Amino acid sequence: MIDELLAGNAAFVTKEFMPNEAYYHALAAQQKPKVLWIGCSDSRVSEHQMTDSKPGTMFVHRNVANIVAFNDVNISAILEYGVTHLKIEDIIVCGHTRCGGIAAIEDGVHENYIADWLCIATGAKEAADRIAREQGLNREQKLAVLTEENVKLQIKHLKNLALIKNLHAKGDLPRIHGWLYRVESGTVDILIDGRGNAPRATLPTKAFKAVVGAQSGTVRGKSKRPAAAKKAKKKKS
Ligand SMILES: [Zn+2]
Repeated sequence: MIDELLAGNAAFVTKEFMPNEAYYHALAAQQKPKVLWIGCSDSRVSEHQMTDSKPGTMFVHRNVANIVAFNDVNISAILEYGVTHLKIEDIIVCGHTRCGGIAAIEDGVHENYIADWLCIATGAKEAADRIAREQGLNREQKLAVLTEENVKLQIKHLKNLALIKNLHAKGDLPRIHGWLYRVESGTVDILIDGRGNAPRATLPTKAFKAVVGAQSGTVRGKSKRPAAAKKAKKKKS
């Protein structure tokens, strides 16, 4: 496998790097990503590939089950560097279908570190349990609900971190988005559309609305804004 990876790197240099040398030389001098990605470590969920983005587009943090741990110095340092120094404008928390971490939250695991880590998603499990009871969901449907509830919970954690909370209190960026990547189809569903829920301080309100309006035409996934996003818009983060 290692030989294949090295051969792949040679192909990358020939087919991608060399034809776009100017881009990569500018990137070598300085990275300026506008997006911070918080996703799952799952090998099938590659943020740059699924969004057809070049290196330099996203600052990335991945862990088991795309969790935002409020007591994790790792993610806190990434957030601080991303928001304070890179001036990140958008944070995407992305869950995905067929997530092993989500199945482990549902089934329970006894391996020490994995169990401790997944404890941070307990609130999502409780919400999914309640919804599954009320709606009589089967296992597959429940895992789908749990995946979505986990993204929502991790966004709640993110917005409650002092760094983000203080910025939002001033009406500043970053905007927060919740996505779901479908490993069966390669498509993205928007669970929480952050494009309208945080004012962009550097733009006048009218211009901001125009930008948001223009962008919303390109939304893939649900045609209507999800209820959670509506609530998020009403209740200023
Ligand atoms: Zn996963």
